[in-house]
Amino acid sequence: MAVERTLSIIKPDAVAKNVIGKIYKRFEKAGLNIVGSRMIHLSQEKAEGFYAEHKERPFFPDLVAFMTSGPVVVSVLEGDNAVVLHRELMGATNPAEAAPGTIRADFAQTIDENAVHGSDSPTSAAREIAYFFDKAELCPRTR
Ligand code: ADP
Ligand code: MG
Repeated sequence: MAVERTLSIIKPDAVAKNVIGKIYKRFEKAGLNIVGSRMIHLSQEKAEGFYAEHKERPFFPDLVAFMTSGPVVVSVLEGDNAVVLHRELMGATNPAEAAPGTIRADFAQTIDENAVHGSDSPTSAAREIAYFFDKAELCPRTR
């Protein structure tokens, strides 16, 4: 299987709930390596740019307000089939529809505040990783 990278964001609701470690533990348990990591408080402009594909959607203003409401943790995860594996760990966008044992089922209640973001394809992952990290900030395992 192909080694891939994907972008993870632990959203403001999950940071506020103090479950960063619990979410990281799930990534590690699934065999994903954290090769980049930073806590930031997104500006309006940065959040709007990140979610530009949803600009015309009715929920866009609320999404940007939520994503700028508190700090987030942006991470780059690396491993076999990382994009799909990470989406599986996250669960469905709407926590009410997320499979039991997924991050969204366990740590989120509503579609507006659903704990985590994950890239939806290798192409999105490349754009999203570059949106937050310089190449030199990513640290693949050497042992
Ligand atoms: P995902 O985060 O699972 O990739 P999308 O890319 O479709 O989902 O949407 C991005 C984010 O926008 C979602 O995680 C969610 O926070 C928000 N969102 C999506 N659809 C809705 C909706 N119908 N109502 C409110 N918020 C939504
Ligand atoms: Mg998406």
